[in-house]
Amino acid sequence: MNTEELWQSYLYEVNKVSNLTELQTVKVKFLGKKGEVTLALKSLKDLPPDIRPEVGQKINAVKKLIEEDLEKKEQELAQKALAKKLEQEAIDVTLPGFPLPLGKLHPLTVVQHRVVEIFTSMGFAVATGPEIEKDYYNFEALNLPKEHPARDMQDSFYITEEVLLRTHTSPVQVRVMEKFAPKLPIRIISPGKVYRRDDDATHSPMFAQCEGLAVDRNIRFSDLKGVLLTFIKELFGPKTKMRLRPSYFPFTEPSAEVDISCVMCGGVGCKVCKGSGWLEILGSGMVHPRVLEMAGYDSSQVTGFAFGMGLERIAMLLYGIDDLRLFYDNDLRFLQLF
Ligand SMILES: [Zn+2]
Repeated sequence: MNTEELWQSYLYEVNKVSNLTELQTVKVKFLGKKGEVTLALKSLKDLPPDIRPEVGQKINAVKKLIEEDLEKKEQELAQKALAKKLEQEAIDVTLPGFPLPLGKLHPLTVVQHRVVEIFTSMGFAVATGPEIEKDYYNFEALNLPKEHPARDMQDSFYITEEVLLRTHTSPVQVRVMEKFAPKLPIRIISPGKVYRRDDDATHSPMFAQCEGLAVDRNIRFSDLKGVLLTFIKELFGPKTKMRLRPSYFPFTEPSAEVDISCVMCGGVGCKVCKGSGWLEILGSGMVHPRVLEMAGYDSSQVTGFAFGMGLERIAMLLYGIDDLRLFYDNDLRFLQLF
């Protein structure tokens, strides 16, 4: 094959090429170890010495042409391949996206925030305390000595004989009084988790409470009533009525259960209020003098009131939920309703 034929043969092959792989094959066919050009150069030694330089120059010139052309073709094909790839991978930015699930506050958290908001607007501060509590703070300092029958109402989870999961947030009240006594006034609420050995549609082994405490000179039962009435009207609406019923708690004297007019029927009577028109929502009373004394206050000079409510109960009434366990099932279908 002379050099002209070599060039024509190359052009014929290269014009059929449509991708980089095919181009590589052509490159090997002409420039590879056993390629046409390589063979032509090797065959120089068989030529008469006088024409070797001339033929050699021609072959090298064709080799250079082929190399340059291959390089150009390679660039073209690479660009074409890239353009094709970009086209295939193109993203339609006008398509609607996938919705991302958004986090929300748990309904109990919402209710707790609301309760805290109402009391802080009345001048109460938020106090917290440990959930693993000493028997002393959970019971004894609240006028519930060992063997007191009222302890049975609050059967808890004991860690040792002297340490338990708190059954109410009242130990926070004791801790606050102990810390501040004999300074005045105290006005706190303590929201938080508490634990009791209970488990049914209206009781859970873990639930949330919010308690309140005010200690000062000249605090009267009417102050308690005023604070609670304000709270209830803020939370359940201005038409809500309140009723106090005499009750018993070891840590308050006198004590009262607090009822509100039924949020479902407005007090006429329905299934939720069992026809009575009233719903029990919290316990309250004047802090027992013995509790004040144990915490370091002079009960002849200082009085106080305290109250406590279950936040699940409040949430159930506000949202019309009849099974408390829904709050803890982590069912998104339920949680997304709020
Ligand atoms: Zn009712």
